[in-house]
Amino acid sequence: MAKDKLIGVDLGGTTIKFAILTDEGEVQQKWSIQTNILEDGKHIVPDIIESINHHLDLYQLDKSRVIGIGMGTPGTVNREEGTVKGAYNLNWAQEQAVKDPIQAGTGFDLTIDNDANVAALGEAWKGAGNNDADVSFITLGTGVGGGLVANHELIHGIAGAGGEVGHIIVEPNGYLCTCGNHGCLEQYASATGVVHLAQDFAEQYAGESKLNRMIDNGEEVTSKIIFDLAKEGDYLANETVDKLAYYLGYAAATISNILNPSAIVIGGGVAAAGEFLRERVEKNWTRFAFPTVRTSTVVKLAELGNDAGVIGAASLANKNRQDVLL
Ligand SMILES: [Zn+2]
Repeated sequence: MAKDKLIGVDLGGTTIKFAILTDEGEVQQKWSIQTNILEDGKHIVPDIIESINHHLDLYQLDKSRVIGIGMGTPGTVNREEGTVKGAYNLNWAQEQAVKDPIQAGTGFDLTIDNDANVAALGEAWKGAGNNDADVSFITLGTGVGGGLVANHELIHGIAGAGGEVGHIIVEPNGYLCTCGNHGCLEQYASATGVVHLAQDFAEQYAGESKLNRMIDNGEEVTSKIIFDLAKEGDYLANETVDKLAYYLGYAAATISNILNPSAIVIGGGVAAAGEFLRERVEKNWTRFAFPTVRTSTVVKLAELGNDAGVIGAASLANKNRQDVLL
């Protein structure tokens, strides 16, 4: 039987998403389980093995058709050893072996990379990237992550820190970042970063604004509330979104000026604001983009949503595709 199926796994702190795809990247089955992070996360790898085996039986899929498993995970990934370090939201305090036990438990090859990188691969392959060779991806969530695909390959750098776009400095001497530097994009464009910006603007603003009143009253403000108010015309909310769009446009232009991708793709929960955000980012991006980049790279919204992870993960396993590329 020809091998024509891929398994994608997107491991997160609250859920583990799975999908079975064709080697063309069409999702045929998908499911998810809760991530059991109890007891130092020791159940996670056995749960993944059990869930894959169970679902292959359930769908009566001939195992000889499976090309392999690709997986995205939080933390720092040693792709050769198949181990993960520093995935604190999984309670993996120690370096965790992932590749060997999953290969042994399922009988399939496993290829692994970090979660933002696999989401970038997913968008590049089947999403906004249209399977182009050069696609850059920024995801705005609780943090800011991303992945850079150049000539169909992820950029990893020599220590795996390539593509950490959340730590591009957009404001020298700006907000302190968890990485120890000041002024990283993540501190302005993540869900908490946007709120931080709004709080700072509120301190300097005395005019009429519902957002300002909410902040003054100590009400909970989220990035979604800020975007919703901005759409309604709230002054302070619009000032906040404009500043976010400035930082994001600047960072996106910097990435574009280095890599000249066909698309710079913006995704993640904060980007749920959609075209309202994209067009403001594009305006700033246009200002900072190198002329040739300005006329060839485009600023796009992500298209796959939550499926980007499993689709990109599956593409890691796609040896057929890799053979073509090599
Ligand atoms: Zn940082």
